[in-house]
This record gives sequence, C-alpha cells and structure tokens, in this order.
Amino acid sequence: MSLVETIENLARGKKNLRFMEVCGTHTVAIFRAGIRNILPENVELVSGPGCPVCVTGDEYIDAAIAYAKMDGVIIATFGDMLKVPGSAENLAEVAAAGADVRVIYSPLDCIKIAQENPAKRVIFLAVGFETTAPTAAAAVLAARNLGVTNLLFLSAQKLVPPALKMLLADSAVRVDGFLLPGHVAVVTGADAFRFLQVPAVVAGFEPEEILLALVNLLRQVDEGRAEVANEYKSVVRAEGNLAAQKILAQVYEPVDAEWRGLGVIPKSGLKMREEFAAFDAEKVLPLEIKKSARKTACRCGEVLRGVIKPVECPLFGKACQPLHAVGPCMISVEGICAAWYKYGGLRL
Ligand code: SF4
Repeated sequence: MSLVETIENLARGKKNLRFMEVCGTHTVAIFRAGIRNILPENVELVSGPGCPVCVTGDEYIDAAIAYAKMDGVIIATFGDMLKVPGSAENLAEVAAAGADVRVIYSPLDCIKIAQENPAKRVIFLAVGFETTAPTAAAAVLAARNLGVTNLLFLSAQKLVPPALKMLLADSAVRVDGFLLPGHVAVVTGADAFRFLQVPAVVAGFEPEEILLALVNLLRQVDEGRAEVANEYKSVVRAEGNLAAQKILAQVYEPVDAEWRGLGVIPKSGLKMREEFAAFDAEKVLPLEIKKSARKTACRCGEVLRGVIKPVECPLFGKACQPLHAVGPCMISVEGICAAWYKYGGLRL
C-alpha cells in the first residue's frame, strides 16, 4: 500500500485534523511536492513560526539600520534580511543610499571581512534558530582565538521549543500535531521536544519523509498516543549534536525574546554571555531604539501562528507580493506567504 493510501485509510472517519509544519524549509518542500493537494479533505497542514527572518521584529532591523548608518561600520548579513522592513526603511534602501552592507553565506565569512578592514567595525546580523546559531558561536570563538577585535555580533537568534510551548498555550491556535523541524532537531535532538503533549514527529525534507511523518502522526491520533517520534533517524539523534550544544552554551545564554507577531516568549532568545561582551554589538555600541510605532494591515502574526492562511490576509497577492512585500512572510525565501504566492493554485 502506498503512503498516500495509508494516510487516506488512517484519516477516514476522523474529525478534521490540523497538523503544523514548524519549519519554513518544510513549508516550501510540502508545496514543491504538492503534498497539500493529495491529502484527504479532513487533514490540513498549517505553517508555523519556523522562518527566522519572518519572526525578527522591527526594532532589531531599526538597530541594524542605525549601525549601518554609523561611520566606519560594515554590516554583514544573509541576503534575505535586506528587504525585511524596519519601522521606516529596510537595509537594502540604506545600502542603496551608501551604507556598507555586505551579503555573506556563513558567519565565518565575517572574520575575513574584519581582517581585511582593520580600521572598520564589522557587525554580523546573527539571525537564525538552533540550526545556524552554533556556526555563529563558532565564529565568535574563532574571532577570539585569532585576535580579531573589530568584529561584533548583533544577536536575534531564537530557540524553537519555547515557541511551540507558547503556541500550545494559545487558545487561538488549534493544532493536533507537529511536523518537527529536522534541521533544528539535528542540533537539539528529538528529546528537546518531549514536553509536547500532542503527537509530534521529527521529519526529513524529501516528499517520502514528509509523508512518512504524516503517517506516523495519523497513527498516533488513531491509537490515542501523543509521543515525539523520529522519522529522520539518518541525521537526528535523541540527544542531538552534543558538540554543537556545547559551543552554543559556551557563547550564549537563553533570554526572553520578542518574536514578530508572537510577542515575548520566555527563554526563547540567545544572548551573548558576559565573557564575550567585547563581541556583543549591543554592549560595545549601545543604541537607544524606540519601540516601533509602525502600523500596517500585515497579518504575519496570525499567519505565523497558523491562525489564518496567507490567502486570508486581504493584502495577499494584491498590495503584498514578493516584489513589493508588505510583511516579512512575503520576503524571505522560506516565508509562508511567499511560498503560498509562488506555488499558488492550492486547495484552500
Ligand atoms: S500577505 Fe503580506 S501583508 Fe499579508 S500577512 Fe503575508 S506578508 Fe503580511
């Protein structure tokens, strides 16, 4: 029997079920493979807050822009941060006006930029989840070992498990199970999600792996179980990557953090430890950033919680499109709205 037939059999006669794929990479993989279109009518996939760019708030972007406008500062960033809106402008606009903003592919690239520009300060915009945060931590340690003193990090890195805990406590969010993010789980381990009290499966990113995870979720529902299963055993271990966890814990400590559209989530952010204050942009170059008063009709917050689908935002595909996006969910390559826009013609 095929995986699709197994899903149909397991779903038959069940109430409407909503499973959340947490990770933006899953969202895109699910659309690419057309998985939403082959699921039974009563099995719905909703997307969650697993796009780090999408959950980065105005104030962080405003701080990055303020640094970019300082004399003698080079901003190093991943490309998908360039068009994320701050309260008045974005980094691409500031770069067009003359600021030195450079797109990099790894935090380790920043070390070379810093070494080549000893008279300037390089500030890396450290945005990401557990997947990329260890590499940023490794760059901090490498910079210290190499005696690089003109490299700073502006951290908006976030942790996924606290966000899922918050979603489960949100009465507006109805989720019957989670497709857990495979890349994050490589670092955290599947056991980091044991607190969830709904069916959950760590999933890979190939279509068969996603379907296998959905079969597992439906089996758990069918048998009345609520466990954390691992259908990505080729790379995810129960305990995760201990070396990556160690390096993260050495450089960062968990702090309460603001998620765009979700509010402040306890212990969901990563702040540099005092020992590394010389690399912390907020400590070396403190700024006074006002709370953003920007108001738009963007409904990213509800989209990122799976409360509405992107097409339910009145701006979707009209005022908000990838080339003139209103919200970050339409900007990032892994943004939920961008995925819905790109792979349109979906069952709603
Ligand atoms: S369609 Fe655009 S405006 Fe609407 S929620 Fe998505 S990003 Fe925000």
